[in-house]
Amino acid sequence: MLVLRFLNVVAPAYFLCISAVTFVLQIFLFIPSMFKDPSTTPLFSSALLHGALFLFLSANALGNYILVIQNSPEDLSKGSNSGPGGEAVANWPDGSRTSGAALPGTHFCRLCARVTQRHDHHCFFTGNCIGSRNMRNFVMFCLYTSLACLDSLVAGVAYISAVLSTSFASPLAFLTLLPHSISQFFSGALLSSEMFVILMLYLWLGIGLACAGFCCHQMLLILRGQTRYQVRKGTVARPRPWRKNLQEVFGKRWLLGLLIPVLNVGSDYHRQKEK
Ligand SMILES: [Zn+2]
Repeated sequence: MLVLRFLNVVAPAYFLCISAVTFVLQIFLFIPSMFKDPSTTPLFSSALLHGALFLFLSANALGNYILVIQNSPEDLSKGSNSGPGGEAVANWPDGSRTSGAALPGTHFCRLCARVTQRHDHHCFFTGNCIGSRNMRNFVMFCLYTSLACLDSLVAGVAYISAVLSTSFASPLAFLTLLPHSISQFFSGALLSSEMFVILMLYLWLGIGLACAGFCCHQMLLILRGQTRYQVRKGTVARPRPWRKNLQEVFGKRWLLGLLIPVLNVGSDYHRQKEK
């Protein structure tokens, strides 16, 4: 439990550090280096287009990150305390006292100390439970973090190939880059800033692929109308059309919500519950 609590603090700090470093590298290193390209016109230069794209992706990633925390699942119990066996006990709105995980689809998270409905999983990077209220923002967060990482990877590769005159045309170039750079760095032929960018390339690739995989898996579960918690418990999904399942998370205007994520906050499911 102590390890999980530690992870709950370290993971958000790690995410915010990586975001800050990425932002600084993009704004102060990659984008200014693109302005030096003499072949482009000033109005539609690749630097301006890339800068606008990066700001759009990072604003959506960070916006949805904040919304995941802001829309954290409501606590179904009025308060939780310990039962006779040290088990968490919830006081339900109807006055009954049951085990936190007694109602179907609900789960008591020991890290958040609350009972959430339609619980999916506890996300360490946001330090919050993911449930019906913030699932939409969580998927958007994964999608835009993945895109922002892959965008930074492309900009970083362009920067390194220009500065070090390295060609990435060969598929094996990315595999040999790291060992080659480490030997060059220790022999003094490579600056520490260039070595740092090369290490960040691998980090962006790893985070970008992990987030893309996570996003695809989560979308598959949403289309099937299942949560990660239900999969873990072996609960069979409700037989419903995929469109209904998608609408429950992304709202009726789900296609618009996918394109303009920050505009449409919350899901129809959440709104129905509030009425
Ligand atoms: Zn939690």
